[in-house]
Amino acid sequence: MAQASLNIDLDAVVANWLALDARSGEATRTAAVVKADSYGLGAERVAPALYRAGARDFFVALAEEGARLRPHLGEEARIFVLGGHMAGDAALIRDAGLIPMLNSPEQVARHLEALPDATCGVQLDTGMNRLGMEAEDWEAAAPMLRDKGLALVMSHLACADEPEHEMNPRQLAEFHRMTDGIGVPRSLAATGGILLGPDYHFDLTRPGIGLYGGRPFDAALGVARLSLPVIQTRVVQPGETVGYGNTWEAERVTTIATLAAGYADGIHRVLSNVTDLYAGDIPCPLRGRVSMDLLTVDVTDLGEVPDTLDLIGPYQGVDALADLAGTIGYEILTALGPRYARRYSEQKT
Ligand SMILES: *Cc1c(COP(=O)(O)O)cnc(C)c1O
Repeated sequence: MAQASLNIDLDAVVANWLALDARSGEATRTAAVVKADSYGLGAERVAPALYRAGARDFFVALAEEGARLRPHLGEEARIFVLGGHMAGDAALIRDAGLIPMLNSPEQVARHLEALPDATCGVQLDTGMNRLGMEAEDWEAAAPMLRDKGLALVMSHLACADEPEHEMNPRQLAEFHRMTDGIGVPRSLAATGGILLGPDYHFDLTRPGIGLYGGRPFDAALGVARLSLPVIQTRVVQPGETVGYGNTWEAERVTTIATLAAGYADGIHRVLSNVTDLYAGDIPCPLRGRVSMDLLTVDVTDLGEVPDTLDLIGPYQGVDALADLAGTIGYEILTALGPRYARRYSEQKT
C-alpha cells in the first residue's frame, strides 16, 4: 500500500499570500515566514511558489534554514534570520547572503566583528520578553547601527490573535517610541497583526500561519490534506476491544480499518477515541488509542472501504483538529513528520 501522503495545495498558499498582501495595503511589502520548513509543509516548494507570485522577503528561524533555502530562490530574494547571528553562523550568513535580525548587544558585537560589511537588521523587544533588544541596549546601539545602514527593524506582538487585547496598543506605542524617526524600514505585524489594521502594518508585514490556512486568518483557503492508507480491515464482535489498553469496546458488529500513521507522524495521542477521519465527507470515528505507527478507525457505516481516509482536509481543517487535540494549528502542522510523502499541486503556467 502507498505511503501516507501530505498533499499541499501551492495555489492555495499563493492565494492566501495575495489576500494578506492586499490587506497589508499599497505602501507595505508582504513577506512570507517559512521557518520550520514552512510550518512543516516544505519550504523548498512553498517559498519558490511565493517568489513566483511576487514575494521577495522571507523569514526563517535559523541560519541553517536560510542557507538551505537560498538555492531555491531567485536573486532578488532577501532571507531574514529571526534567531539573529548566533555563534558559529558567520560563514553561513556570508555565503548564503542572509540578513540576521540582531537580538542583543552580544549579537551586534559578534556580527560587526565577523562580518562588518554584511547587511543586518535588528529585532526589538516591545514587551513579549522573548527575543529582541531591550530599550536601553537599543538606545546605546542605534546610532552606530543606523550609520551602518540597517535593512529592517522589527518587533513581534504577543497577543495579536486577540484583537481587543490591551497588549496590542501597548506594544504598538512602545514600537513607535523605540523607532519613530529612525529612517529604517519597520515591521511589527505577523498574520494576526495584519488583521489588526493599517496602524500595525508599517513597511513590511510577516505572515506565516495565514499562508498555510490557519487561524486567525479566517478567510484563508485550506492548504494541507493528510490522507492515510488503509493497511487492513477486520470485523470486531460486540464485547471485543481495539488497541492498546482496551480503551474502546465494540457494542455492535464493527468493521475496523487499520491505517498506516501514528503519533510518530505527529498525530497527537490525545486524539485517541476523539477525532474522526473522513471518507470524502463521511466522518469515521477513530477507535482506541493512537499507536506509534497505526490508527484504528470505525468504517462500519461505509458502503465500501476506500484506499485512504483523510485526517486533515476540506471536512476537518487544521484548526478543527487542533481544537480536538487541545492545541493550535501551528503545532498540528509543524508536528507532521518526515514519513509522509509530500505531494504538491500547482497550476502549470
Ligand atoms: C513565527 C513568526 C512570525 C509569523 O507568525 P504567524 O502568526 O505564523 O503569522 C512572524 N514574526 C516572528 C518574529 C515570528 O516568530
